[in-house]
Amino acid sequence: MNRPVHHLQNPPFPVEDNCLNIGGMPLTLLAEQITGTPFYAYDSHLITERVARLRAALPPDIHLHYAIKANPMPAVVRHFAGLVDGFDVASEGELKVALDTPMQPAGISFAGPGKSDRELRDAAIAGIVVSVESEHEVERLARLAAPLGLRPKVVVRVNPDFELRSSGMQMGGRASQFGVDAERVPALLACMPELPLEFYGFHIFCGSQNLRAESLMEAQRNTFDLARRLAAHAPGPVKLLNLGGGFGIPYFPGEQPLDLEAVGTHLAGLMPDARRDFPEARFVLELGRYLVGEAGIYVCRVLERKFSRDQLFLITDGGLHHHLAASGNFGQVIRKNYPVIVGNRVVPESAAALASVVGPLCTPLDLLADKMELGHACEGDLIVVLQSGAYGLTASPTAFLSHPAPAEIFL
Ligand SMILES: *Cc1c(COP(=O)(O)O)cnc(C)c1O
Repeated sequence: MNRPVHHLQNPPFPVEDNCLNIGGMPLTLLAEQITGTPFYAYDSHLITERVARLRAALPPDIHLHYAIKANPMPAVVRHFAGLVDGFDVASEGELKVALDTPMQPAGISFAGPGKSDRELRDAAIAGIVVSVESEHEVERLARLAAPLGLRPKVVVRVNPDFELRSSGMQMGGRASQFGVDAERVPALLACMPELPLEFYGFHIFCGSQNLRAESLMEAQRNTFDLARRLAAHAPGPVKLLNLGGGFGIPYFPGEQPLDLEAVGTHLAGLMPDARRDFPEARFVLELGRYLVGEAGIYVCRVLERKFSRDQLFLITDGGLHHHLAASGNFGQVIRKNYPVIVGNRVVPESAAALASVVGPLCTPLDLLADKMELGHACEGDLIVVLQSGAYGLTASPTAFLSHPAPAEIFL
């Protein structure tokens, strides 16, 4: 048999009889049940294993939060409720999903640059932590909480004066709609004692999808230093220090997985000083895609195998309306291929020809794989996009062209 034709080094799903298995089920069987294709499937065991791996690598007093926007499927969030220490939500809808699990409200925090009055009020009533992102938002929250006799817990989200470097970019503060500029935080903290708010700590999130351990280590060091400087102006002890996250997963050819052990060891080295300087603090890492991204796949079926001027197109029943990120239109500057395989014919019988996987939409943007070694796929075969557990369905324009939404299966 030939080599498998994807670029991911160690896909987490076993292959039996040349068919991908997920949650102990052969993909072909899964595609027959429930609603057929297209669908997303998420493997609960992989999520559980991922959290265990993080716990083993990180210092014991680091709390793990799940950022719900990565994958808000209620079954997924409920599964996380038994595994992590808290949730980060960023909308009323996510708050509802979070409150509908056994997670304690004190473990839930609400961030986002544009919270409505209703969201602020409901957050205060629910007793969750509000991550405030502007001076005006602090005033609004205080005004809404006072008549209810509430004193919401508040962490100040800081727009840091450093960056999470990913590819040799220079450090330096940037303008941002997120958080309060670090240099303005002391003045904001000075106003807080008069307001019906409980100062609870800081939230410093400085980047996402980072695969370089050294960049994350540097950012964590800078985060503690910034928190120390700001804490000197705080009206009370820091009870919660949210250190952000930013742990990435490999998607594209040539990307290496994050060296989690290196990040954990480095963080353990920072903890003695942190515990001394913030004796009452809970230290939190908030992660989304690192927790759930590798546990999910997107599956669609080949409808047409079509040649055009010697190029092979596999036309499927799924596409960018379900999985915008795999099409390259969710933040990528240069389009690159996600790891894509033929799920029921993982290893081709002979060298596979190049094929492009496209969807049914009437736009050339609807491209799931550009000239990958998938030419052995036949009509009826199952195309699988790996690394699809995060920022998949809910980050996609499902209404575009009015096709039905895909199913989601939690196994
Ligand atoms: C989106 C977001 C996260 C999660 O980011 P991932 O890259 O999925 O880990 C965490 N914290 C905040 C504040 C976010 O906006």
